[in-house]
Amino acid sequence: MTSHISLAPNSLARRNFLTLAAGAPLALLAAGRTRAADTPACYDPATLPFSQKGRRRSLGYVEVSADPKKHCGGCSFFSAAAQGGCGTCQLLGGGPVRADALCNSFAAKAHA
Ligand code: SF4
Repeated sequence: MTSHISLAPNSLARRNFLTLAAGAPLALLAAGRTRAADTPACYDPATLPFSQKGRRRSLGYVEVSADPKKHCGGCSFFSAAAQGGCGTCQLLGGGPVRADALCNSFAAKAHA
């Protein structure tokens, strides 16, 4: 006995959709890894003292600024570190920050 499976257009479209849906999470994971590899590892957020975590929370600190014109590297409270893309913030008590991060207390550096 032979079975005959008909691949109607709807069946093919559904198969293509399922194939794409199965691959989408892997593509997002790969993109996330590329993003993480591109950004400097200035510190490990998991090992920050509670005081640092609290200050960051109260200042609305985010690891990556959504505004390319406003980021820690352009803030008057930022001091660059030897490691590229990293530094410290006066408002965070000298705690480590990423140059591309941002908080609600951003104050643009004065231009000389
Ligand atoms: S005050 Fe905010 S924006 Fe400025 S360096 Fe500190 S964390 Fe970054």
